[in-house]
Amino acid sequence: MRMSRCLVLALLVAGCAPHRTQTAEPAVVQPAVVAESLLEDVRILSADDMEGRLIGSAGGAKARAYLLGRLQEIGVAPALGGGFEHPFETKRDGKPVPGVNLIGVVSGTGGSDRALVVMAHYDHVGVRNGQTYNGADDNASGVAALLAIAESLKRRAPLHDVILALVDGEESGLSGARAMIADPVFRPALDRTVLALNFDMLSRSDKNELYASGAFHFPWLRPQLEAIVGSAPVNLKPGHDDPALGKDDWTGQSDHMAFHVAKKPWVYFGVEDHPDYHKPTDDFAAIPQDFFVRSALTVEMAVRAFDRDLETIEGESANAAN
Ligand SMILES: [Zn+2]
Repeated sequence: MRMSRCLVLALLVAGCAPHRTQTAEPAVVQPAVVAESLLEDVRILSADDMEGRLIGSAGGAKARAYLLGRLQEIGVAPALGGGFEHPFETKRDGKPVPGVNLIGVVSGTGGSDRALVVMAHYDHVGVRNGQTYNGADDNASGVAALLAIAESLKRRAPLHDVILALVDGEESGLSGARAMIADPVFRPALDRTVLALNFDMLSRSDKNELYASGAFHFPWLRPQLEAIVGSAPVNLKPGHDDPALGKDDWTGQSDHMAFHVAKKPWVYFGVEDHPDYHKPTDDFAAIPQDFFVRSALTVEMAVRAFDRDLETIEGESANAAN
């Protein structure tokens, strides 16, 4: 383990800090992600026995069973009534394939019915030519961060409902996120969603950089993003969202695209591609743990900041639409 014991303690202490007594709210609420569970989740999800978590595969089902257990253990409630599982069907190589999203919610205490969606895809590309693609960065890292944030939200409740979507089939045409958005069962949740945050690849950057993408399309999100940039424990950079960038525009490259099509504001957090991207070498052992913990703390700061300002964001989104 490369992360120092010091950092673990620092994070735990930050999580236990007493509430400030000043009248002015801090720009960004102190995050409280616990490093041990974050690293344990990403290690388990990217282990060989998950067989690369391909949609419709036994490995995908095993990952889902683990995630269901974690959601229940953390105390997240199902978001759509019934259970966490949201089944759908897509096609791979012309054949029907079953997928299953897991959708939960941590209730807000602010008396509002507005919601913030936080999502991360748990599928990856499976086994190819006898080689297992473990997808540690892509996207066990985003899923582990989402679970760590769920734990934090259960310790200190958000103001607004935070809908947690662990989606399947991102690697198959963003099929899980698209199915969720299109399903009338999700419609009431979508109608009250003000903003969606997508985590996809949070754990590796040779340059110690994490990107926050989306403000090109939704410039009224810039004040919150700038406040996070100013306090983030990683080098957080806005960008990769201008269509003029061509293939470096990430607008259509992960599940936030489903929200873009539905005209819902989104922010995508992720790193630039690295040499192990979509390779069998995207393994847990290759994750620089210090960077990953800092990255998870950063996205939790974002969840807290956007939760706090959700009414303002909704008002500005409505103004922009008129
Ligand atoms: Zn991904």
